Amino acid sequence: MIKQFISRVLGRKKPDLHNPRIFRADKHKIDHGAISAGAIRVCEGLHAEGYKAFVVGGAVRDLMLGRQPKDFDVATDATPEQVRAVFRRARIIGRRFRLVHVMFGQETVEVSTFRANHERSEADEDDARADEHGRLLRDNVFGSQEEDAIRRDFTVNALFYDPERDEVWDYLSGVDDLKARRLVMIGDPEARYREDPVRMLRAARLAAKLEFRIDAKTEAPISRLAPLLDNVPAARLFDELLKMLLSGQAAACLARLRALGLHRNLLPFLDELFKDDSARRFVELALARTDERIAADKGVSPAFLLAALLWPLVDRRIRAADGGTLPQQVLWHEAMDGVLEAQRRFLAIPRKLDATMKELWVAQPRFLQRGGGRPYRLLTHPRFRACYDFLVLRAEAGDVPMELADWWTRFQDADEDMRKSMLLQDDGPKKKRRRRGRRTGGGGRNGLGEADAQGETNAQGEQG
Ligand code: ATP
Ligand code: MG
Repeated sequence: MIKQFISRVLGRKKPDLHNPRIFRADKHKIDHGAISAGAIRVCEGLHAEGYKAFVVGGAVRDLMLGRQPKDFDVATDATPEQVRAVFRRARIIGRRFRLVHVMFGQETVEVSTFRANHERSEADEDDARADEHGRLLRDNVFGSQEEDAIRRDFTVNALFYDPERDEVWDYLSGVDDLKARRLVMIGDPEARYREDPVRMLRAARLAAKLEFRIDAKTEAPISRLAPLLDNVPAARLFDELLKMLLSGQAAACLARLRALGLHRNLLPFLDELFKDDSARRFVELALARTDERIAADKGVSPAFLLAALLWPLVDRRIRAADGGTLPQQVLWHEAMDGVLEAQRRFLAIPRKLDATMKELWVAQPRFLQRGGGRPYRLLTHPRFRACYDFLVLRAEAGDVPMELADWWTRFQDADEDMRKSMLLQDDGPKKKRRRRGRRTGGGGRNGLGEADAQGETNAQGEQG
């Protein structure tokens, strides 16, 4: 009684872990129609066998906010083997924390057994993935439903929804926080960030995505603890960065990262880059355009996005390069590889993206050449469309004249006569077709083998 009174006076009702608050339909207002058929069938199937089963995590949060969840996860007190036995198409995945994937047609529902927190759980999970050899992997640490609530990161991510009874179970005042639109870390924030520093990035991403404020106590330790991100495997950091970039709120995520001081450990070049207004404009515009594409259900390519983020660095290196007699393609490859390697010390940018990023970059000077056969050859570039989109972005950011982008917009769609009339006569020095050193510096790997990208342009591809 007294405890309850005190906590009410303090403004936060003390959660009672043994008695979750239960919200019925009139209070939680979840639109039952927004729940995936698969998640409902999984819960029903498990209930029929006498197990507990709830939709959990981000899906409940999003449903209560009236947003369509990205994916539906189910948590249960059944073990993975017991879950598998209930469904016809189900398989156990994962080594350390074993989950079950239950398939219904196109849909896959991830089912996890309630588990308890224990130190460094998420980080260990990651290590386990990174290190395939030699390590003895501990068993699953199953737990009660309450423990499963506590091991989660934010209170709004620790809600359980039973679609059959149409009830939300709340052990940690997540519903209050959801209504107040605030992210509150479960437990002691500093300890939870130390357990798993990625939670700091999740705070930035979720606050941006949900337009929530980060609770003061949850926010306070972040800038001080940001350097802990250096101990997170680079692959996991890259995954988190990608989630932010593809969240549909990339611009807002970046703003939150910077406000929290987390960008220094994720995208360390940003501070330096943003001193230059045009570079900043370009990066911000690239993120805003990405968000627009996602809002319009158009695809976005991670390689394009990363190429945009890193372009000002490549551009800067090319401008600064004093190649002397070095062929252009050598300069370009040195600049591009230099930028990529410097980033890889922090972020595990997958090497499979390199070729596409380089193609986008190296095509840029070719757009400046609008005479003779060169524009025609550029049109046949297998990734012309992406290279052109990149050019348009640069034009919008004021990196190249809009007139150039407009010219290419018209040239693409023009008929042959029109194209001929559009070609610029004075297109710089004549081509030196058989340059020596053509094959040096890896030219030809990424589209640089084209005559167009060779010595006839200066570092920026500007003629003369
Ligand atoms: P999104 O909408 O981006 O999917 P999410 O909150 O659902 O957001 P997921 O990565 O799908 O994020 O994680 C599902 C749930 O797992 C979270 O809601 C949270 O309860 C828990 N979780 C995820 N990552 C962590 C973490 N690092 N520490 C503790 N709990 C976590
Ligand atoms: Mg999720």
